[in-house]
Amino acid sequence: MTAPTSCQACRYQLKKGRHDLPHSDLRHVDTRPFRGSMFGGWEESTYQCAVCGSVIEHTNDKNEFAPWWWLASTEKK
Ligand SMILES: [Zn+2]
Repeated sequence: MTAPTSCQACRYQLKKGRHDLPHSDLRHVDTRPFRGSMFGGWEESTYQCAVCGSVIEHTNDKNEFAPWWWLASTEKK
C-alpha cells in the first residue's frame, strides 16, 4: 500500500493548463472522446511517465474549471 511517488516534472505537470503539452518523459497511452457534453464534448488523454511511472490524465474540456491534469490511480489490477 505504498503511494506512488511522482517525479518533479510530474508534480509540475499537474499545475499546468489546458493547452500545455505533457512533459518530455510522458508517453501517450490513450485518448478517448468524452461525449455527452452540451458544449460538444471533449477528449481525455492518458499519459504515463517514463521516469517515475505516474499515470497522468489530461482533459481539453473547454468549459470546466476542473484541473486539466491529474494523477490517475497507478494500482495494478
Ligand atoms: Zn514522472
